[in-house]
Amino acid sequence: MKVTGIEVYELQIPFSRGVKKKATSNFLKADALDFCLIKIETDVGIVGWGDAFAFHCRRSVAEAINHMIKPHLIGKNPMDVQQINFELQKTLHLFGRYGITMFAISAVDIALWDIVSKFSKLPLYNILGSSGNKKMPAYASLWRYEDAESVQDRCKHAISLGYKYIKLHEIFTSEVEAAREAVGDDIPIMVDTNCPWTKDKAKKMLNEWEDYNLYWVEEPINPPEDFNSLSDLRTEVLCPIAAGENACTSFEFKKMFEAEAVDYAQPSVTKVGGITEFKKIISIAESYGVQVMPHSPYFGPGFLATLHLAQSMPNPGLLERFFLDFEAYLYPEDLFKPKDGCFIVPDKPGLGIDPDKNVIKDYLIKS
Ligand SMILES: [Mg+2]
Repeated sequence: MKVTGIEVYELQIPFSRGVKKKATSNFLKADALDFCLIKIETDVGIVGWGDAFAFHCRRSVAEAINHMIKPHLIGKNPMDVQQINFELQKTLHLFGRYGITMFAISAVDIALWDIVSKFSKLPLYNILGSSGNKKMPAYASLWRYEDAESVQDRCKHAISLGYKYIKLHEIFTSEVEAAREAVGDDIPIMVDTNCPWTKDKAKKMLNEWEDYNLYWVEEPINPPEDFNSLSDLRTEVLCPIAAGENACTSFEFKKMFEAEAVDYAQPSVTKVGGITEFKKIISIAESYGVQVMPHSPYFGPGFLATLHLAQSMPNPGLLERFFLDFEAYLYPEDLFKPKDGCFIVPDKPGLGIDPDKNVIKDYLIKS
């Protein structure tokens, strides 16, 4: 089997944030999600689908795939997926081991694993060493609203849909307090702050939030790779710390674990180097006694890949569902709706479902 071609599809699919209030900051104004999908074709007729992290960098990633990766991939045997990943990382190391290059490699790796498992006529979770019968609890990952009333509305809506865990993307106490008030004491709440603070400021905020009994606080410190400061913070606050969506490759995660920087590790399959690197991180995390909580605010092949990887983990952790409503979905919408609070992994060969070609056609960015 040989790779004969790679097609890249840039999409933007509009979403609703679920509240009527007008957005005020740039972060809040986004109203469409970027996708950089790839389709890898082979000489035996099997095609594989992948996607790269593409939020606000869709075009750059697409160019990296077309111009930096494609020439190295044509003619390769997809069954050598791990070797291909190694060689791509080695060849492209001078362009940086974090960011656009790794996002592009991630997309290719996901698509190759899709081909490998389709060729084997097995769902990917079987190839990864799982029967696929583990429960995968979902959490509703809310947009940042910076408005207590909107946060309460969205929390209540998530609970009405059966979610048993909620994550906020807020940085002020008023919204965290409002969420706790809305959901009561029994629903675990996580808060993702997206790297806003110094260590001292983070300590002040996390101490202030102690009353809200948070399940974890995510990325409280800037820059995200300041593992020593995260480690210090962990010894100074009660709340568990999560991080990892901004780390690429298993090497970064090893450094993170050696520094004892996190309680929960959050590799992101479309950023970290694909399924190949994610697999390594699962093993390393296990040896350091750290629970993996996959970062997966995705609606393309990256989301499916995360479900299959979670099945292969000793404990699948909690699975992220970006709590937005889209104008269209690349897969049947039910896939993104937890049943009894849990996601179901597709049981067909490969990732299990190919993206809807009509949705690709309708939301394709042509220039
Ligand atoms: Mg996050």
